[in-house]
Amino acid sequence: MIISKFACIKILNKKKLTYISKKYNIKNLQIGQTIKIPIENLPINSHEKILVKCDNCGIEKLVNYQSYNICTKNNTEKYYCSELPTHSKADGMGFGGHRLA
Ligand SMILES: [Zn+2]
Repeated sequence: MIISKFACIKILNKKKLTYISKKYNIKNLQIGQTIKIPIENLPINSHEKILVKCDNCGIEKLVNYQSYNICTKNNTEKYYCSELPTHSKADGMGFGGHRLA
């Protein structure tokens, strides 16, 4: 599941500035600024880092939003962490039960 309510997006260059100000209709945005975007407003292929929690073991980790959406089929399925071998062994599911983040 997603823990983060917002993603902080830093405006690094003019391209991003134009994109963000257009997409979210924000005026007076400047390069170097960081803005908070509600997670649900992020494009599903966004590479912004969000905090998520494994629905199986409860481990929290930062993943990029796009990866999360791939793992959970756009947030329609549960999220499982996968990178910790101990976790996969502990839950008895093996790697087959876990998908890559
Ligand atoms: Zn897990």
